[in-house]
Amino acid sequence: MARVVLLTGGNTGDVKRTLQAAQQLINARVGAVLRCSHRYESKPWGFDAEQHFSNQALEVSTDLQPLEVLEAVQAIEQELGRNRAAEAVEKARTGVAYTSRPIDIDILFYDDEVIASERLTVPHPLLSEREFALAPLCEIMRQRRHPVTGQTMEEMYKALRPNEN
Ligand code: ATP
Ligand code: CA
Ligand code: CA
Repeated sequence: MARVVLLTGGNTGDVKRTLQAAQQLINARVGAVLRCSHRYESKPWGFDAEQHFSNQALEVSTDLQPLEVLEAVQAIEQELGRNRAAEAVEKARTGVAYTSRPIDIDILFYDDEVIASERLTVPHPLLSEREFALAPLCEIMRQRRHPVTGQTMEEMYKALRPNEN
């Protein structure tokens, strides 16, 4: 049994309902959701879009291996309306790496494992730059340490936002 930390997010459609549906599907297919944060609103990161993002962090108890978790969450993304082919067209048109999407599910941690493979990098490599991930993480696991840097989620958040408590 492992504990995996996921970040769900989206900025198109009925995001609240989509994130709720994602949580139910994760609970059914990845494993029991032990803790989940509130939804956090943020501006799009890395591109411009009118609709803001909503993100939620989930801690899940799982029997799946890391790549099996990736496959499960990608299947859930697809079922909830994520269209990677349309995103690729949009990225090619704009030349920007990120686009609007109804649902994105990233693996932030898998126990304290460090994974660097072609399909999967864990912990998520951009975590330290992303307030929209660190804010919900601080809510549910403030004292958890990053397995590589040893920093707590709280310390990582404060490093990004030095003027906040
Ligand atoms: P970012 O990873 O910067 O947040 P993104 O979520 O928009 O970008 P996607 O298009 O959803 O990127 O995923 C691209 C690929 O990233 C996936 O096909 C997957 O193989 C790979 N990937 C690598 N590490 C992870 C991870 N920790 N969680 C989810 N996907 C990952
Ligand atoms: Ca992402
Ligand atoms: Ca993703």
